[in-house]
Amino acid sequence: MAHDPRQAAQSRWLGAAALLGVVRSEPGITRAAAAQHLGIGSGNATELASRLREARLLDEEPAPAQGRGRPTTLLGPHAQGPLVLAVDLRASDWRLALAGIDGRAEVVRRSGYPDDPEAALAQIAKAIGAVYRRNPKRLRAIAIAVAGPVSGVRLGQFPSRGWNDVDLSVLTAKIADRADIGLLVGNDATLAGLAEARTGAAREAVTALHLIVAQGIGGTLVVNGEPVTGAHGAAGEYGHIPFAEPDLECPCGARGCWDLTVDGRALARHLGDPSPDDPVGYVHTIIGNRDARTRRALAAVASSLGRGIGALVNLHDPDIVTLGGAAVPLRAAAPEAFADAYRDALMAFRKSAPPPVRDGVHGEDGPLHGAVELALDHVVTPAGVADWVALQDI
Ligand SMILES: [Zn+2]
Repeated sequence: MAHDPRQAAQSRWLGAAALLGVVRSEPGITRAAAAQHLGIGSGNATELASRLREARLLDEEPAPAQGRGRPTTLLGPHAQGPLVLAVDLRASDWRLALAGIDGRAEVVRRSGYPDDPEAALAQIAKAIGAVYRRNPKRLRAIAIAVAGPVSGVRLGQFPSRGWNDVDLSVLTAKIADRADIGLLVGNDATLAGLAEARTGAAREAVTALHLIVAQGIGGTLVVNGEPVTGAHGAAGEYGHIPFAEPDLECPCGARGCWDLTVDGRALARHLGDPSPDDPVGYVHTIIGNRDARTRRALAAVASSLGRGIGALVNLHDPDIVTLGGAAVPLRAAAPEAFADAYRDALMAFRKSAPPPVRDGVHGEDGPLHGAVELALDHVVTPAGVADWVALQDI
């Protein structure tokens, strides 16, 4: 068999990546508990942890003594360890956040967009370049969360900014030798669902469905901690299933899209208001009004939400459904209308024990946390560890 040095390096770091994975999901875990988790002896764990400390991947500090147990250490990210950058492109502003292998994200830059799409992309690329120059050896992956359909590193459309078919790799234009840093792109709803499944309200679920209302509704099915993204990464466009009347025309090019009945635009249509530029802002403005007309409009929107979710439960059979964005206040504004429509849409055999529909815990930070998870998935692998070690001057 031919000797493949890259493969050899990867298998050498298999155990290391597994230990990093444990620290990633439980930062501050003791070395003894991590060894137990991996089913390795304490001598092996000690040796592995010290290799990872030397490689600036982990740090150890003495754990407080507990009873008569042997002394152990607490494992956490190394102060000079790898970093990932999450880029959160939202409808009205963008944010950059850095995280180490414990996934704790710190927002380092936030700004509104210039009107011109090219100027906006250049502004963000410049900010990403500045973050890179402050951490040239540590930044290992960049993950972009964006409120639009994505395919590879291409963004199909970003309706709230008027961007169409943008190659998002231009955002790393200010990084020298950028081939070395992983660039990943995910739809915001997909990444919010990933965050709920990994660290949020669906943490215990094997099959979880997440739905988020902003301008329209998006979501993702997450199975065993991985979003089902389709052949090109564009799956989960739940808003463009024709759950609405076919005479409604959707900006996506299809007709009768569910999108048009579950967001601020739908509320405005019921209330005879012009279609709002900021549908989420519109929901928050009118949700406190308790007049009969507003209540009817809210009930209609909550019903459409519940009915569609029932249909998706029939389709996907999830353990749990989690909600994000404006779906949370919209359900809360008309909980009975939502619950009735949800139950009515379920097939009879599901009605006695339907999956719970819970509010997500990450709120509007879901896409940001999901981007961190996506980027770390790229870094905390045997190949990622082998690349990191090769870069270190040790
Ligand atoms: Zn549509």
